[in-house]
Amino acid sequence: MTRPTINGDHLTAGPARAPRYAMMGAGTGMAQRRRRERQIVIDIQTEPQPSDLGDVRVTNRAVVLRHVRRHAPCSRADIAAHTGLNKATVSSLVTELIDRRLLRETGLTENRVGRPATMLVLDGEPYAALGMEIGADELVVVAVDLGGNRLLTWRRAFAAPLAAPAETVRALATLARRAINRVNGQGRTILGLTVGVPGLVDTAGTVPLATALGWRDVPVATALRAALRDPDFTIAVDTDANLAVVAEQRHGVYAGTADLVHLTGGATVGAGVLTGGRPLRGARGFAGEVGHVPVDPAGPVCECGRRGCLTALVALPAVVRRLLPDVEVDGPVTDWLPELERVQTLARQEDPGVLAGLAEIGTHLGHGVSILANLLNPQVVTMGGHFAVLAPWLLPAARAELHARALAPAAGGCQLVASRLGATATALGGATVALATVESGRLPVS
Ligand SMILES: [Zn+2]
Repeated sequence: MTRPTINGDHLTAGPARAPRYAMMGAGTGMAQRRRRERQIVIDIQTEPQPSDLGDVRVTNRAVVLRHVRRHAPCSRADIAAHTGLNKATVSSLVTELIDRRLLRETGLTENRVGRPATMLVLDGEPYAALGMEIGADELVVVAVDLGGNRLLTWRRAFAAPLAAPAETVRALATLARRAINRVNGQGRTILGLTVGVPGLVDTAGTVPLATALGWRDVPVATALRAALRDPDFTIAVDTDANLAVVAEQRHGVYAGTADLVHLTGGATVGAGVLTGGRPLRGARGFAGEVGHVPVDPAGPVCECGRRGCLTALVALPAVVRRLLPDVEVDGPVTDWLPELERVQTLARQEDPGVLAGLAEIGTHLGHGVSILANLLNPQVVTMGGHFAVLAPWLLPAARAELHARALAPAAGGCQLVASRLGATATALGGATVALATVESGRLPVS
Protein backbone atom coordinates (compact mmCIF):
# COMPACT_ATOMS: atom_id res chain seq x y z
CA MET A 1 0.00 0.00 0.00
CA THR A 2 1.30 3.44 -0.83
CA ARG A 3 0.91 5.81 2.01
CA PRO A 4 0.46 9.51 1.57
CA THR A 5 3.70 11.31 2.12
CA ILE A 6 3.86 13.72 4.97
CA ASN A 7 6.95 15.87 5.27
CA GLY A 8 8.74 13.72 2.74
CA ASP A 9 8.76 10.43 4.63
CA HIS A 10 5.76 8.27 5.26
CA LEU A 11 7.08 7.44 8.69
CA THR A 12 8.06 10.94 9.58
CA ALA A 13 5.87 13.80 10.55
CA GLY A 14 6.84 17.11 11.94
CA PRO A 15 10.26 18.28 12.94
CA ALA A 16 12.46 15.61 14.47
CA ARG A 17 13.41 16.06 18.08
CA ALA A 18 16.98 15.10 18.81
CA PRO A 19 16.89 11.86 20.76
CA ARG A 20 18.87 11.60 23.99
CA TYR A 21 21.33 9.18 22.48
CA ALA A 22 22.10 11.39 19.51
CA MET A 23 25.40 12.58 20.93
CA MET A 24 26.62 9.16 21.96
CA GLY A 25 27.90 7.92 18.64
CA ALA A 26 30.86 9.29 16.82
CA GLY A 27 29.70 10.95 13.66
CA THR A 28 30.63 13.75 11.42
CA GLY A 29 29.93 15.01 7.96
CA MET A 30 27.86 12.72 5.82
CA ALA A 31 26.88 10.35 8.60
CA GLN A 32 25.59 13.22 10.67
CA ARG A 33 23.70 14.70 7.77
CA ARG A 34 22.19 11.36 6.97
CA ARG A 35 21.16 11.00 10.60
CA ARG A 36 19.48 14.37 10.55
CA GLU A 37 17.57 13.35 7.47
CA ARG A 38 16.62 9.99 8.80
CA GLN A 39 15.92 10.80 12.42
CA ILE A 40 12.48 9.43 13.00
CA VAL A 41 11.29 9.92 16.48
CA ILE A 42 7.55 9.89 16.21
CA ASP A 43 6.27 7.04 18.29
CA ILE A 44 3.67 6.14 20.81
CA GLN A 45 5.18 7.04 24.15
CA THR A 46 3.01 5.32 26.65
CA GLU A 47 5.60 5.22 29.38
CA PRO A 48 7.90 7.82 30.78
CA GLN A 49 11.27 7.86 29.12
CA PRO A 50 14.13 6.43 31.16
CA SER A 51 15.74 9.25 33.00
CA ASP A 52 19.08 8.04 34.29
CA LEU A 53 22.19 6.45 32.87
CA GLY A 54 21.26 3.02 34.22
CA ASP A 55 18.42 3.04 31.74
CA VAL A 56 20.56 3.87 28.72
CA ARG A 57 20.66 0.24 27.63
CA VAL A 58 16.85 0.07 27.82
CA THR A 59 16.61 3.22 25.74
CA ASN A 60 19.13 1.95 23.22
CA ARG A 61 17.34 -1.39 22.93
CA ALA A 62 14.16 0.53 22.13
CA VAL A 63 16.02 2.56 19.53
CA VAL A 64 17.28 -0.59 17.81
CA LEU A 65 13.86 -2.28 17.89
CA ARG A 66 12.19 0.84 16.55
CA HIS A 67 14.69 1.17 13.74
CA VAL A 68 14.26 -2.46 12.70
CA ARG A 69 10.46 -2.21 12.93
CA ARG A 70 10.51 0.66 10.50
CA HIS A 71 13.36 -0.23 8.18
CA ALA A 72 13.59 -4.02 8.14
CA PRO A 73 15.34 -5.76 6.63
CA CYS A 74 18.39 -3.83 7.71
CA SER A 75 21.92 -4.59 8.78
CA ARG A 76 23.78 -3.84 12.01
CA ALA A 77 25.75 -1.23 10.07
CA ASP A 78 22.49 0.44 8.92
CA ILE A 79 21.30 0.60 12.51
CA ALA A 80 24.54 2.17 13.65
CA ALA A 81 24.59 4.67 10.79
CA HIS A 82 21.01 5.80 11.25
CA THR A 83 20.67 5.83 15.02
CA GLY A 84 23.99 7.29 16.04
CA LEU A 85 24.76 4.31 18.27
CA ASN A 86 28.29 3.01 17.83
CA LYS A 87 28.83 -0.30 16.07
CA ALA A 88 29.98 -2.20 19.16
CA THR A 89 26.88 -1.11 21.08
CA VAL A 90 24.61 -2.10 18.21
CA SER A 91 26.33 -5.46 17.89
CA SER A 92 25.93 -6.20 21.59
CA LEU A 93 22.27 -5.11 21.64
CA VAL A 94 21.46 -7.12 18.52
CA THR A 95 23.04 -10.25 20.01
CA GLU A 96 20.93 -9.84 23.12
CA LEU A 97 17.76 -9.20 21.12
CA ILE A 98 18.41 -12.26 18.93
CA ASP A 99 18.95 -14.34 22.07
CA ARG A 100 15.59 -13.17 23.39
CA ARG A 101 14.02 -13.81 19.98
CA LEU A 102 12.97 -10.23 19.47
CA LEU A 103 15.14 -10.00 16.35
CA ARG A 104 16.27 -12.61 13.88
CA GLU A 105 18.71 -12.80 10.99
CA THR A 106 17.01 -13.38 7.66
CA GLY A 107 19.80 -15.33 6.05
CA LEU A 108 19.81 -12.70 3.32
CA THR A 109 22.74 -10.44 2.88
CA GLU A 110 23.18 -7.07 1.34
CA ASN A 111 26.13 -6.67 -0.98
CA ARG A 112 28.20 -3.71 -0.05
CA VAL A 113 31.69 -2.60 -0.62
CA GLY A 114 33.64 -4.86 1.68
CA ARG A 115 32.01 -7.86 3.26
CA PRO A 116 28.31 -8.66 2.88
CA ALA A 117 26.02 -7.56 5.74
CA THR A 118 23.56 -9.95 7.34
CA MET A 119 20.04 -8.51 7.37
CA LEU A 120 17.84 -8.34 10.46
CA VAL A 121 14.08 -8.32 10.93
CA LEU A 122 11.82 -8.33 13.96
CA ASP A 123 11.23 -11.85 15.20
CA GLY A 124 8.68 -11.64 17.93
CA GLU A 125 7.39 -15.07 16.92
CA PRO A 126 7.28 -16.21 20.55
CA TYR A 127 5.30 -13.15 21.64
CA ALA A 128 1.83 -11.74 21.16
CA ALA A 129 -0.34 -8.96 22.56
CA LEU A 130 -4.10 -8.75 22.87
CA GLY A 131 -6.44 -5.82 22.38
CA MET A 132 -10.14 -5.89 23.17
CA GLU A 133 -13.08 -3.56 22.88
CA ILE A 134 -16.36 -3.32 24.71
CA GLY A 135 -18.64 -1.73 22.13
CA ALA A 136 -22.30 -0.84 22.50
CA ASP A 137 -23.33 -3.95 20.60
CA GLU A 138 -20.28 -6.20 20.39
CA LEU A 139 -17.11 -7.43 22.04
CA VAL A 140 -13.92 -7.59 19.97
CA VAL A 141 -10.56 -9.24 20.48
CA VAL A 142 -7.48 -8.86 18.29
CA ALA A 143 -4.09 -10.52 18.76
CA VAL A 144 -0.93 -9.29 17.05
CA ASP A 145 2.67 -10.42 17.10
CA LEU A 146 5.58 -8.12 17.79
CA GLY A 147 5.74 -7.10 14.14
CA GLY A 148 2.11 -5.95 14.32
CA ASN A 149 0.84 -8.87 12.21
CA ARG A 150 -2.66 -9.96 13.14
CA LEU A 151 -2.89 -13.41 14.61
CA LEU A 152 -6.63 -13.39 15.20
CA THR A 153 -9.64 -11.04 15.04
CA TRP A 154 -12.85 -12.16 16.70
CA ARG A 155 -16.08 -10.22 17.15
CA ARG A 156 -18.98 -11.34 19.25
CA ALA A 157 -22.41 -9.68 19.29
CA PHE A 158 -23.13 -8.52 22.84
CA ALA A 159 -25.54 -5.81 23.97
CA ALA A 160 -23.56 -4.37 26.86
CA PRO A 161 -26.08 -1.56 27.55
CA LEU A 162 -28.69 -4.22 28.39
CA ALA A 163 -26.35 -6.30 30.58
CA ALA A 164 -25.10 -5.65 34.09
CA PRO A 165 -21.46 -4.49 34.13
CA ALA A 166 -20.40 -7.70 35.91
CA GLU A 167 -22.06 -9.76 33.19
CA THR A 168 -20.26 -7.77 30.50
CA VAL A 169 -16.90 -8.27 32.21
CA ARG A 170 -17.64 -12.01 32.47
CA ALA A 171 -18.41 -12.17 28.73
CA LEU A 172 -15.25 -10.20 28.02
CA ALA A 173 -13.20 -12.59 30.16
CA THR A 174 -14.67 -15.60 28.34
CA LEU A 175 -13.68 -14.14 24.99
CA ALA A 176 -10.24 -13.19 26.36
CA ARG A 177 -9.68 -16.71 27.70
CA ARG A 178 -10.44 -18.23 24.30
CA ALA A 179 -7.98 -15.87 22.63
CA ILE A 180 -5.34 -16.49 25.30
CA ASN A 181 -5.72 -20.26 24.84
CA ARG A 182 -5.41 -19.94 21.08
CA VAL A 183 -2.32 -17.73 21.26
CA ASN A 184 -0.67 -19.80 24.00
CA GLY A 185 -1.48 -22.91 21.97
CA GLN A 186 0.65 -21.47 19.17
CA GLY A 187 3.54 -21.41 21.62
CA ARG A 188 3.46 -17.67 22.12
CA THR A 189 3.81 -15.73 25.34
CA ILE A 190 1.31 -12.91 25.86
CA LEU A 191 2.93 -9.60 26.70
CA GLY A 192 -0.20 -7.67 27.63
CA LEU A 193 -3.88 -7.03 27.10
CA THR A 194 -5.52 -3.63 26.73
CA VAL A 195 -9.28 -3.10 26.70
CA GLY A 196 -10.99 -0.12 25.07
CA VAL A 197 -14.21 1.24 26.57
CA PRO A 198 -16.52 3.93 25.16
CA GLY A 199 -16.36 6.16 28.22
CA LEU A 200 -14.11 7.83 30.74
CA VAL A 201 -11.29 5.67 32.09
CA ASP A 202 -9.09 6.64 35.02
CA THR A 203 -5.45 5.71 35.48
CA ALA A 204 -6.35 2.64 37.56
CA GLY A 205 -8.45 1.17 34.74
CA THR A 206 -11.77 2.04 36.38
CA VAL A 207 -14.58 3.51 34.32
CA PRO A 208 -16.23 6.32 36.31
CA LEU A 209 -18.75 6.97 33.55
CA ALA A 210 -19.68 5.33 30.25
CA THR A 211 -23.07 6.68 29.25
CA ALA A 212 -23.28 4.47 26.13
CA LEU A 213 -23.04 1.39 28.37
CA GLY A 214 -25.00 2.82 31.30
CA TRP A 215 -21.93 2.38 33.53
CA ARG A 216 -20.78 4.24 36.59
CA ASP A 217 -17.68 3.34 38.60
CA VAL A 218 -16.93 -0.03 37.04
CA PRO A 219 -13.43 -1.32 37.99
CA VAL A 220 -12.85 -3.05 34.64
CA ALA A 221 -9.12 -3.76 34.98
CA THR A 222 -9.43 -5.21 38.48
CA ALA A 223 -12.50 -7.28 37.61
CA LEU A 224 -11.00 -8.64 34.40
CA ARG A 225 -7.72 -9.47 36.13
CA ALA A 226 -9.64 -11.42 38.79
CA ALA A 227 -11.79 -13.17 36.16
CA LEU A 228 -8.62 -14.24 34.33
CA ARG A 229 -7.09 -15.43 37.63
CA ASP A 230 -4.31 -12.89 37.83
CA PRO A 231 -2.32 -13.70 34.68
CA ASP A 232 1.37 -12.75 34.54
CA PHE A 233 0.88 -10.06 31.88
CA THR A 234 -0.31 -6.49 32.15
CA ILE A 235 -4.03 -5.77 31.86
CA ALA A 236 -4.85 -2.17 31.05
CA VAL A 237 -8.00 -0.27 30.17
CA ASP A 238 -8.27 2.88 28.11
CA THR A 239 -10.83 4.96 26.26
CA ASP A 240 -11.72 3.50 22.85
CA ALA A 241 -10.64 6.74 21.15
CA ASN A 242 -7.18 6.68 22.77
CA LEU A 243 -6.59 3.17 21.46
CA ALA A 244 -8.06 3.82 18.02
CA VAL A 245 -5.72 6.78 17.48
CA VAL A 246 -2.77 4.51 18.29
CA ALA A 247 -4.01 2.06 15.64
CA GLU A 248 -4.28 4.93 13.16
CA GLN A 249 -0.82 6.18 14.04
CA ARG A 250 0.70 2.74 13.52
CA HIS A 251 -1.48 1.05 10.91
CA GLY A 252 -3.71 3.68 9.29
CA VAL A 253 -3.39 5.48 5.97
CA TYR A 254 -1.77 8.43 7.75
CA ALA A 255 0.52 6.30 9.91
CA GLY A 256 3.42 8.26 11.32
CA THR A 257 1.51 11.54 11.60
CA ALA A 258 2.67 13.30 14.75
CA ASP A 259 -0.33 15.57 15.26
CA LEU A 260 -3.19 13.22 14.70
CA VAL A 261 -6.73 13.10 16.09
CA HIS A 262 -9.10 10.19 15.73
CA LEU A 263 -12.79 10.79 16.19
CA THR A 264 -14.69 7.65 17.13
CA GLY A 265 -18.08 7.05 15.60
CA GLY A 266 -20.71 4.74 17.01
CA ALA A 267 -22.80 5.00 20.13
CA THR A 268 -20.56 7.74 21.46
CA VAL A 269 -18.23 10.29 19.95
CA GLY A 270 -14.82 10.87 21.48
CA ALA A 271 -11.43 12.06 20.35
CA GLY A 272 -8.09 10.30 20.74
CA VAL A 273 -5.38 12.91 20.44
CA LEU A 274 -1.70 12.59 19.58
CA THR A 275 0.16 15.85 19.76
CA GLY A 276 3.83 15.86 18.84
CA GLY A 277 3.55 12.07 18.64
CA ARG A 278 2.40 11.76 22.23
CA PRO A 279 -1.04 10.96 23.62
CA LEU A 280 -2.85 13.91 25.19
CA ARG A 281 -4.53 12.60 28.33
CA GLY A 282 -4.97 15.48 30.75
CA ALA A 283 -4.50 15.40 34.50
CA ARG A 284 -6.66 12.35 35.22
CA GLY A 285 -6.91 10.78 31.79
CA PHE A 286 -10.19 12.37 30.80
CA ALA A 287 -9.08 14.55 27.89
CA GLY A 288 -10.71 14.22 24.48
CA GLU A 289 -14.42 14.27 25.36
CA VAL A 290 -15.32 16.41 22.40
CA GLY A 291 -18.54 14.41 22.14
CA HIS A 292 -19.93 16.36 25.07
CA VAL A 293 -18.97 19.80 23.88
CA PRO A 294 -22.24 21.67 23.31
CA VAL A 295 -22.60 22.70 19.66
CA ASP A 296 -26.31 23.56 19.58
CA PRO A 297 -27.87 25.16 22.70
CA ALA A 298 -31.34 24.36 21.30
CA GLY A 299 -30.36 20.82 20.30
CA PRO A 300 -31.69 17.54 21.68
CA VAL A 301 -30.96 16.36 25.22
CA CYS A 302 -27.82 14.21 25.34
CA GLU A 303 -27.45 10.90 27.18
CA CYS A 304 -25.20 12.79 29.62
CA GLY A 305 -28.18 14.98 30.61
CA ARG A 306 -26.93 18.18 28.98
CA ARG A 307 -28.43 19.71 25.88
CA GLY A 308 -27.02 19.99 22.37
CA CYS A 309 -23.81 17.98 22.82
CA LEU A 310 -22.09 16.84 19.63
CA THR A 311 -22.97 13.24 20.62
CA ALA A 312 -26.68 14.10 20.72
CA LEU A 313 -26.44 15.35 17.14
CA VAL A 314 -24.03 13.03 15.35
CA ALA A 315 -23.55 9.76 17.28
CA LEU A 316 -24.99 6.69 15.54
CA PRO A 317 -28.28 6.55 17.51
CA ALA A 318 -28.87 10.27 16.81
CA VAL A 319 -28.12 9.78 13.11
CA VAL A 320 -30.45 6.80 12.80
CA ARG A 321 -33.25 8.51 14.72
CA ARG A 322 -32.86 11.65 12.62
CA LEU A 323 -32.87 9.78 9.29
CA LEU A 324 -35.21 6.86 10.06
CA PRO A 325 -37.97 8.35 12.23
CA ASP A 326 -39.86 5.03 12.37
CA VAL A 327 -36.90 3.08 13.71
CA GLU A 328 -38.02 2.75 17.33
CA VAL A 329 -41.73 2.26 16.74
CA ASP A 330 -41.40 -1.39 17.80
CA GLY A 331 -39.11 -0.77 20.76
CA PRO A 332 -35.53 0.28 21.42
CA VAL A 333 -32.83 -0.65 18.90
CA THR A 334 -30.10 -2.94 20.22
CA ASP A 335 -28.29 -3.62 16.95
CA TRP A 336 -27.53 -0.46 15.04
CA LEU A 337 -25.70 -2.05 12.12
CA PRO A 338 -28.77 -3.01 10.04
CA GLU A 339 -30.16 0.51 10.57
CA LEU A 340 -26.88 2.03 9.42
CA GLU A 341 -27.07 -0.17 6.32
CA ARG A 342 -30.61 1.12 5.67
CA VAL A 343 -29.32 4.69 5.86
CA GLN A 344 -26.55 3.82 3.41
CA THR A 345 -29.00 2.23 0.99
CA LEU A 346 -31.28 5.27 1.07
CA ALA A 347 -28.31 7.58 0.58
CA ARG A 348 -27.15 5.55 -2.42
CA GLN A 349 -30.68 5.82 -3.82
CA GLU A 350 -30.35 9.58 -3.35
CA ASP A 351 -33.38 9.81 -1.08
CA PRO A 352 -33.71 13.61 -0.77
CA GLY A 353 -34.70 13.58 2.92
CA VAL A 354 -31.78 11.35 3.86
CA LEU A 355 -29.28 13.35 1.79
CA ALA A 356 -30.45 16.62 3.38
CA GLY A 357 -30.27 15.00 6.84
CA LEU A 358 -26.74 13.71 6.19
CA ALA A 359 -25.61 17.16 5.04
CA GLU A 360 -27.00 18.65 8.26
CA ILE A 361 -25.26 15.97 10.34
CA GLY A 362 -22.06 16.59 8.36
CA THR A 363 -22.30 20.27 9.26
CA HIS A 364 -22.56 19.47 12.98
CA LEU A 365 -19.65 17.07 12.62
CA GLY A 366 -17.56 19.76 10.92
CA HIS A 367 -18.42 22.12 13.78
CA GLY A 368 -17.08 19.55 16.26
CA VAL A 369 -13.93 19.02 14.21
CA SER A 370 -13.38 22.80 13.98
CA ILE A 371 -13.19 22.90 17.78
CA LEU A 372 -10.46 20.25 17.67
CA ALA A 373 -8.70 22.10 14.84
CA ASN A 374 -8.76 25.41 16.72
CA LEU A 375 -7.53 23.82 19.96
CA LEU A 376 -5.01 21.30 18.67
CA ASN A 377 -4.05 22.18 15.09
CA PRO A 378 -3.83 18.54 13.97
CA GLN A 379 -2.41 17.58 10.58
CA VAL A 380 -5.07 14.93 10.15
CA VAL A 381 -8.39 14.07 11.80
CA THR A 382 -9.48 10.52 11.00
CA MET A 383 -13.10 9.51 11.58
CA GLY A 384 -14.10 5.96 12.47
CA GLY A 385 -17.30 3.98 12.99
CA HIS A 386 -20.40 5.21 11.20
CA PHE A 387 -18.62 8.42 10.22
CA ALA A 388 -16.31 6.34 8.03
CA VAL A 389 -19.22 4.34 6.60
CA LEU A 390 -21.19 7.52 5.77
CA ALA A 391 -18.14 9.56 4.79
CA PRO A 392 -19.12 10.07 1.12
CA TRP A 393 -22.22 11.97 2.27
CA LEU A 394 -20.90 13.57 5.46
CA LEU A 395 -17.49 14.82 4.36
CA PRO A 396 -18.42 17.61 1.92
CA ALA A 397 -20.55 19.47 4.50
CA ALA A 398 -18.18 18.60 7.35
CA ARG A 399 -15.14 19.94 5.50
CA ALA A 400 -16.98 23.12 4.51
CA GLU A 401 -18.02 23.76 8.12
CA LEU A 402 -14.51 22.97 9.38
CA HIS A 403 -13.03 25.55 7.02
CA ALA A 404 -15.72 28.10 7.85
CA ARG A 405 -15.17 27.82 11.60
CA ALA A 406 -11.41 27.28 11.89
CA LEU A 407 -9.54 30.46 12.62
CA ALA A 408 -6.31 29.50 10.84
CA PRO A 409 -6.14 29.74 7.05
CA ALA A 410 -7.08 26.45 5.35
CA ALA A 411 -8.15 25.09 8.76
CA GLY A 412 -4.49 25.12 9.82
CA GLY A 413 -3.76 22.44 7.23
CA CYS A 414 -6.12 20.02 8.96
CA GLN A 415 -7.24 17.19 6.70
CA LEU A 416 -10.50 15.48 7.63
CA VAL A 417 -10.60 11.91 6.32
CA ALA A 418 -12.38 8.61 6.85
CA SER A 419 -10.50 5.86 8.68
CA ARG A 420 -9.90 2.70 6.69
CA LEU A 421 -9.21 0.48 9.68
CA GLY A 422 -12.82 -0.63 10.10
CA ALA A 423 -14.60 -1.86 13.19
CA THR A 424 -11.62 -3.40 14.95
CA ALA A 425 -9.43 -0.28 15.16
CA THR A 426 -9.82 0.11 18.93
CA ALA A 427 -8.90 -3.52 19.63
CA LEU A 428 -5.96 -3.28 17.21
CA GLY A 429 -4.79 -0.17 19.03
CA GLY A 430 -5.16 -2.01 22.33
CA ALA A 431 -2.90 -4.81 21.12
CA THR A 432 -0.41 -2.24 19.80
CA VAL A 433 -0.32 -0.48 23.16
CA ALA A 434 0.21 -3.82 24.90
CA LEU A 435 3.46 -4.21 22.93
CA ALA A 436 4.75 -0.92 24.31
CA THR A 437 6.72 -2.45 27.20
CA VAL A 438 8.91 -4.45 24.85
CA GLU A 439 9.04 -1.66 22.29
CA SER A 440 10.25 0.68 25.01
CA GLY A 441 13.26 -1.59 25.44
CA ARG A 442 12.26 -3.71 28.44
CA LEU A 443 12.88 -7.39 27.89
CA PRO A 444 9.92 -9.72 28.30
CA VAL A 445 9.81 -11.76 31.49
CA SER A 446 11.05 -15.22 30.58
ZN1 LIG B 1 -23.47 15.02 26.39
